Amino acid sequence: MPRRCTVCEHEKVEEINRLLLEGVSLRDLAGRYSVSKTALHRHKESHLPAELTKAREAREIAKADSLLDQVTELRDKALSILDKAEQAGDLRTALQGVREAKGCLELLARLQGELQEQATVNILINPQWLSLRTVILEVLDRYPEARQAVAQALREVEGDVVGQ
Ligand SMILES: [Zn+2]
Repeated sequence: MPRRCTVCEHEKVEEINRLLLEGVSLRDLAGRYSVSKTALHRHKESHLPAELTKAREAREIAKADSLLDQVTELRDKALSILDKAEQAGDLRTALQGVREAKGCLELLARLQGELQEQATVNILINPQWLSLRTVILEVLDRYPEARQAVAQALREVEGDVVGQ
């Protein structure tokens, strides 16, 4: 039977982990939480790093989730404007759609930058983003001038991100 860790099983394990990271002495913690110094030492050496990794992964996932939410929201917004442009058939509305799309791209680039250090989420290969990109360019086929501007913006953003 594997040896159990009294710290991992402690109901205040998160609090203990936090205090360990803050550098509170093992003796203080042993007294405060009624666990042995040996158990605390072993936990700190063997279990704490894994806990930290888990916490970091949870944060990454949360970050990626909210990023995808935002992408979805922006996609809907850009598409509704491009829809209107299609119905109205005027370049001015189409250009408004282009501006929205461009703002969307800039935001995505910023978000991508924030996630860069994690390097686990690449928005430019995200299926939602790819479908948005395709739809935008398709709709803009009717507006060659606007299409060119968007295509250029896309290249700049994607180039920037790839180049980093
Ligand atoms: Zn432990």
